[in-house]
Amino acid sequence: MLRNPIKWPNGAKCACAITFDMDADSLIHLARPKNSHDRLYPISMGRYGPDVAVPRILDTYRRLGLKQSFFVPGWCVEQYPAAVESMLEQGHEVGHHGYLHEDPLTHSYEQQAEWFGKAMDAHKRVVGNTPRGYRAPVYNINQGVLDLLLEYDFQYDSSMMGDDIPYMLDIRGHHLMEMPVHWGTDDWPPFAHFDEIGYMMPVKSPSSGLQGFWEEFEAHYEVGGFWHCIWHPFLTGRLARWKQVEKWLESTLENYDVWFASLGEIAAYVRSVQEEDSGSVRVDKLPYYELPPASRATDFS
Ligand SMILES: [Zn+2]
Repeated sequence: MLRNPIKWPNGAKCACAITFDMDADSLIHLARPKNSHDRLYPISMGRYGPDVAVPRILDTYRRLGLKQSFFVPGWCVEQYPAAVESMLEQGHEVGHHGYLHEDPLTHSYEQQAEWFGKAMDAHKRVVGNTPRGYRAPVYNINQGVLDLLLEYDFQYDSSMMGDDIPYMLDIRGHHLMEMPVHWGTDDWPPFAHFDEIGYMMPVKSPSSGLQGFWEEFEAHYEVGGFWHCIWHPFLTGRLARWKQVEKWLESTLENYDVWFASLGEIAAYVRSVQEEDSGSVRVDKLPYYELPPASRATDFS
């Protein structure tokens, strides 16, 4: 089923990463800049992440011996340093996720560079971390961001959807690992309900919302794939959902040959595989297009 499966270390049949984007209340401040400071319900919903869910998630990971990846906007590092410090202290990876969760597509390349540097500075200054993994807010990566990732010597991006397993981006001759995401393993569709930022999702019950993720796992496990979840502490870190995740993790670690690791570890491993045999990892050449193919829309009318 996979054209270029990767042989995972120690005979594991599937590489697994549950990643969390700790956006906290950045989303409401970005969406409602005029009066977000006085919108207490969405602020408290976001703060539930660093205050309640992250300690709960870290407890589970510590007990089960898992090291995973978190992506945190620079502003959230400044607001919630204790949560980020405990991620780092416990050996997890903390990646770059913009400064205030700004969408790269809404800024010029120059403005993007400013926000990007400001976020790097927050990670370094507040918690002594130099991120080497990146996930674009709302996955909206563009060529300007790719150039920044190369400039800052990042190890990988995790915003694109071009394959089932990690692959290599060749950006005008420069290489960057891609740790692909997709909406089927993102917890926003089943669990987010956030009218203030334009999302009115029918919230699913914990078991039916999580069911899709477990089916994704089974499919990846069968073919030696890469099961990669993109979750949010204020969504999947909620009590009833996390209780089910915890149970699932316990039973999966017990009954399956899986390799749970941070995206940084998996990216390093895949790169080493590629260095041994350059044909074993798929390479995607960028830029895909220099101009929008429909830019001369009159040609098509
Ligand atoms: Zn985010």
